[in-house]
Amino acid sequence: ERRAALGEARGPGATADGHKVPLLANIGGPGDVAAAVEAGAEGVGLFRTEFLFLGDGADGSEPPSVAEQTEAYRHVLAAFPDGRVVVRVLDAGADKPLSYLNPADEPNPALGVRGLRALLAHREVLLDQLRALGRAAEGQSAYLEVMAPMVAGPGEAREFAEACREAGLSARAGVMVEVPSAALRARALLQEVEFLSLGTNDLAQYTFAADRQVGALSRWQDPWQPALLDLVALSAEAAKAEGRSCGVCGEAASDPVLACVLAGLGVTSLSMGAASIPYVRARLARHTLAECERAASAARAADDAESARAAAVAALGG
Ligand code: PEP
Ligand code: MG
Repeated sequence: ERRAALGEARGPGATADGHKVPLLANIGGPGDVAAAVEAGAEGVGLFRTEFLFLGDGADGSEPPSVAEQTEAYRHVLAAFPDGRVVVRVLDAGADKPLSYLNPADEPNPALGVRGLRALLAHREVLLDQLRALGRAAEGQSAYLEVMAPMVAGPGEAREFAEACREAGLSARAGVMVEVPSAALRARALLQEVEFLSLGTNDLAQYTFAADRQVGALSRWQDPWQPALLDLVALSAEAAKAEGRSCGVCGEAASDPVLACVLAGLGVTSLSMGAASIPYVRARLARHTLAECERAASAARAADDAESARAAAVAALGG
C-alpha cells in the first residue's frame, strides 16, 4: 500500500507546474546501485568513494590500485547509461582518517588536513583516482562529473581543476560547498570549476561550529536552520547568475518538505539515499515552483529551525 500512497509515478522529479528538479541517489559503492535504480534515481548525485580506501575490502595502508578503482567506477557508470554520475574524490580525514594521507597529531581533525586538502598534499593519490575515473568512463554513455570535498576557496578549486586536466580527464569538474567561505564566494569558485554541490551536513557543522558527531549538539545539524538556508540561497543564486548548476547532496535533500524549499531557493538537483526518492518525488509533484519559492521565503524569515519548518509547511498549505 505504501506504493499506492506514493503513486506508481516514477519519472523525473518535477514540481506540479513542470519545473524539473532531477532526483539523484547518494551511493557509497557498487552495492548501493541496485536500490538506486529500483527507486527510479535519475543518476547519482554523490558517489562517496571512501569505501574503496576505507571499507571492508580495503587494506588501509595504501590506496587501491588504478585498476581496482577503475573496475568499481565502471560498475557504477554502467548502471546509469542515460544518467549523470557525480563522483566525489576521496574525502579522508576527521571521522574517516587514513594513515597515509592525514596527519596523526591534529588537535582538531575536522578543521585539519582533510578532504581536498589532504589530496593536494598527496597529489599522486588524487591523480591516480582521476586517471581511474577517466578510464572507467571510456566507452560508457553515462555522463561522468567529478567533484572535490571540503573546498574553502577559489585557489583550491583551481588546483582541483588543474589536477583533472593533468590526469587527462574530460569530465566536468565541480566542488562541494561544505564550508561557509565557499558559499560566500560561490561566484569566484565558479570561475574555476563548472558546478556546485552543497554538502549540507558539513556546511551545518562548520556554520554553527558544532561537531556533527557530538549527539548533544545535534540540533545544529538540523538543516532547517535559517542561517543554513541563507547559505544555500547564496550558492544557488551565484550558480544561476553564472548559468551553472547547484545541487544539494546532504541529508537536507531527503526531507520532502525541505526538498520543496530547496527547489524554491533555486537548487537545481537533489541527491539523497535511494529510499527517500519516492517521497521527495511525490511531494515535489504537489507544489508549483512559485509555491516552493514562497515556502522558501517563509522559512528564511523564521528565527529557528522549528519555526522555519512550520512556516514552510503553512506556506505549502499543510
Ligand atoms: C555533506 O557533508 O553534506 C556530504 C554530503 O558529505 P558527507 O556526509 O559524506 O561528509
Ligand atoms: Mg561532507
